[in-house]
Amino acid sequence: MATSTVENYLKQILLEQQRVEGSPVPMGKVASALGVVPGTTTTMAKSLADSGLVNYAPRKGVRLTEEGEKLALHVLRRHRLIELFLVEILGLGWSEIHEEAEKLEHVISDKVLEKIDALLGFPTVDPHGDPIPTAKGKIDARSLENLSGCPLGEPLRISRITDQAPEFLRFIENNGLQPGAELKISEQNRVAGTLTFSLSKGKTLTIGASAAKKILVE
Ligand SMILES: [Zn+2]
Repeated sequence: MATSTVENYLKQILLEQQRVEGSPVPMGKVASALGVVPGTTTTMAKSLADSGLVNYAPRKGVRLTEEGEKLALHVLRRHRLIELFLVEILGLGWSEIHEEAEKLEHVISDKVLEKIDALLGFPTVDPHGDPIPTAKGKIDARSLENLSGCPLGEPLRISRITDQAPEFLRFIENNGLQPGAELKISEQNRVAGTLTFSLSKGKTLTIGASAAKKILVE
């Protein structure tokens, strides 16, 4: 059984790998995402490599081995199913579930997890629109467009929010921009870096480019 620290590293490496196809993930990136000192990550990279969970190239970074990826996908499955459970069954707020799931993902048993999966009707996405890996370790890897790259006037549907920071999620929630919301972009100001769009309820909103990049649509 992997420790929660190992599980956090593997999960973070997997998330970074999904962003950059094929190339090694720099350990510095993993460190800053996990909020740890870069020095300790080198030791961790070596130890993960010794356990056969990653391939480590000094100064370049790491890639998960098949075994490492299997473990990482299982942690991600636990995290995302727990998030959905917290919202759907326990009624927790959409913006507070990520922090809770960060803790629970390391302690839940497979038995309880599979019960939760069945109770929720074998869902494929979590409340943020992130795909839930199957018990066999398969994950939907379709790539979605972010809001800043979309054409004006076309009907769009929000399907995923990529930033899980509570303040960003609260902003999304307060403005009704959760997965499922429909919108049309009315104006894109490249100079100011802003994007204006209308939501289905007739509400108009202007956001900056960095926020727009964290909202994925189809
Ligand atoms: Zn989360």
